[in-house]
Amino acid sequence: MAMMPAGRSIPFGRPLLGPEEKQTVLDILSNPILVHGPRAEQFERDFATFCGAPHAVSVANCTAAMHLVWFGLSLKPGEEVIVPAQTHVATAHAVELAGGKPVFVDAERTTGNVNIELIEPAITDRTRGIAIVHYLGYPVNAQPIVDLARKYGLFLLEDCALAIGTYRDGIHAGLHGDAGCYSFYPVKHMTTGEGGMIITRHDEVARKARQQRAFGLDRNFTERTVPGVYDVVELGFNYRMNEIAAGLGIEQLKRLPGFLARRRDNFEILRRGLREIEEIEVMPGGGDVPPKDINSCYCLSAILKPAFLDRRPQIVDQLKAAGIGTSVYYPKPVPFMSYYRQRYGYREGAFPVADWISSGSISLPVGPHLAEDDMHYIVTELKKAIGKVIL
Ligand SMILES: *Cc1c(COP(=O)(O)O)cnc(C)c1O
Repeated sequence: MAMMPAGRSIPFGRPLLGPEEKQTVLDILSNPILVHGPRAEQFERDFATFCGAPHAVSVANCTAAMHLVWFGLSLKPGEEVIVPAQTHVATAHAVELAGGKPVFVDAERTTGNVNIELIEPAITDRTRGIAIVHYLGYPVNAQPIVDLARKYGLFLLEDCALAIGTYRDGIHAGLHGDAGCYSFYPVKHMTTGEGGMIITRHDEVARKARQQRAFGLDRNFTERTVPGVYDVVELGFNYRMNEIAAGLGIEQLKRLPGFLARRRDNFEILRRGLREIEEIEVMPGGGDVPPKDINSCYCLSAILKPAFLDRRPQIVDQLKAAGIGTSVYYPKPVPFMSYYRQRYGYREGAFPVADWISSGSISLPVGPHLAEDDMHYIVTELKKAIGKVIL
């Protein structure tokens, strides 16, 4: 391979905002309508079309989306929701904020997704729901979980923050269960600055989310016959998406197919380049997804095998010196984050796979801000770093 230019910089993530996004924001700013406008509605329609969803409800961010969904179920204190241990803390916080109790289950080794075998044993007579997360965008084998949810009458929420463009059995993530929640945070697959979306097949889930994202009012801005007059029929939040964010979302969604294709190509180059390194395992799934299924390729995690876990800081340092940004998904299993550890007292060793993923992960970028050449560079530099630190 040719000599790499010195001072190469490969950030882990970078939002790609172009002239269209900038023009849209300027257009919105020259208009008095900053909320309750046509753009949030259009973004909802466009997003619903992209996923094939009957309903899409725009909200302030993905945490708000998940909070709204669990809140809408009116969980009673002590009622439980099964949550993967290996996820963003927001998946669990949303349950906790809605008054429920997250009950954590471990991950499976090859994909980082929830270990399906562990779900049924965790169901009790207090269980109301199951949350799953498509880990790093890799599709959860959802059907057996849908079957379990039906069998026990549980609500199934999919945390799809990293799963825009993720399909399993030909179905877009978020449409297997009862609600799917998305994030448009800057380094996700597309961004609105901050933003989120709920998709659902159920009219009632959508109706309730619309009402509760806006204080629980009985009619929205455009439905009021006398300006300023409304009633409040239930408890609610202010979790709406504003017009600036929605305008960005409309433009980003147009570019999303290109973003996703670039991610998949990058992921594949990296996966092939890294798979013969003995000291690591490539996650999620080694990149081998059954034919009908599509990984949205948020990033690729090189996971150090157990014997080498203590070398991670040095390897990350070497990569950093080579200009390669890395991350960790996720730094600890959620039940071992101090808040949850203190609250529920899960014992050490209760989530061995999630522990291994957290302590061994070096998450590498594959985003559309990077080209094929960058992937070859990462492969070369990771091999060099491992050679230097481990041999
Ligand atoms: C980013 C992320 C969230 C939080 O999304 P926000 O829009 O920042 O609230 C939740 N779950 C997962 C899996 C994430 O990656």
